[in-house]
Amino acid sequence: MSTTTENAATTAATTIPTTMRAVVVHAPGDYRLETRPVPTPGPGELLLRTDAVGICASDLKCYHGAAKFWGDDNRPAWAETNRIPGHEFVGTIVAGDDDTLTKRKVTLGDRIACEQIVPCWECKYCLEGAYWMCNVHDMFGFKGYDGAMAEYVLVPAKALTHPVSSALPGQVAAFAEPLSCAFHAVERGDIKFGDTVVIAGAGPIGLSAIAGARQKNPLRIIALDVVEAKLDLARKVGADITINIAEDDAVARVKELTDGYGADVYIEATGHPSAVPQGLNLLRKLGTFVEYSVFKDNVSVDWSIISDDKELDVRGAHLGPHTWPAAIKLLETETLPMSEICTHQFPLEQFQEALDLVGDSAGASVKVSIIPALHA
Ligand SMILES: [Zn+2]
Ligand SMILES: [Zn+2]
Repeated sequence: MSTTTENAATTAATTIPTTMRAVVVHAPGDYRLETRPVPTPGPGELLLRTDAVGICASDLKCYHGAAKFWGDDNRPAWAETNRIPGHEFVGTIVAGDDDTLTKRKVTLGDRIACEQIVPCWECKYCLEGAYWMCNVHDMFGFKGYDGAMAEYVLVPAKALTHPVSSALPGQVAAFAEPLSCAFHAVERGDIKFGDTVVIAGAGPIGLSAIAGARQKNPLRIIALDVVEAKLDLARKVGADITINIAEDDAVARVKELTDGYGADVYIEATGHPSAVPQGLNLLRKLGTFVEYSVFKDNVSVDWSIISDDKELDVRGAHLGPHTWPAAIKLLETETLPMSEICTHQFPLEQFQEALDLVGDSAGASVKVSIIPALHA
């Protein structure tokens, strides 16, 4: 990456204002819309006009000050103070030097998505290629770099970027983030053609995992949720069978469908504590449990089911390494019912309403996004 300032000259396609509207973190429960200077890209950096930014469960967890960062005691349980949140975004390149544009194989006016993690490229994990587990773990909108709940967002030299078609609505293009994360969860499940795959939760991640599992085409994809409308969506993105667990016993149904054995793979995408024992119980012996969601509280289970009883493979999954191009490709095929998944778009002025809606688990929202070009 270039560190010379000689070729830092930026070329602006459009007139870029000097200030912008941005949501700023002050404390848990205290985010404010403020006027901030528009960042000026230096060498290796790009400036994006934000097309859309999605809000995810992790944003909400930080908003409530309930995030845990294991192994980093110095970090508060929320996004850094003074930080602009927003890690699920796409934007249009409005400034950047020629070297940077060439290196990233883009031109001014192109739309790109950025991976949420900004790897340090120096730690043990980054050097091993496991950049998504970077020890520094800087992430847009949480730590180290400002996110995209603003009219403009700066792409640092260390960021990973991917081109996305400008023909997609912004909120659909920004869905590349949750979709790539769910694709990673699917890959962690090592799905085989003969598998019965159960996916718990039909929110943004669960629906994305169903869409991803469909790409792998196993024998059977079963979706679990308690909201009928979400189960409808689950079928539209590729579930063969849906079970409303408020009405039906998921463990009994799955066993019935698998000659009494149980599922081969279970992907947990609800964040609800009861979904953990549910998965352990409905898996067959030697099955694979993939944990993706974020929990508010600790979850306890009978660990002997993992060892003595079933010899399960229990795997975590974090972020979406190496899955972005495939996720973007799927969005660009326009085969997913994205207008039904991206249920709500708000202007920046209504960020609070948007956050509250994501927090309302009984509500009708699936993916809530902020579109800075919209005005209240
Ligand atoms: Zn997210
Ligand atoms: Zn690193």
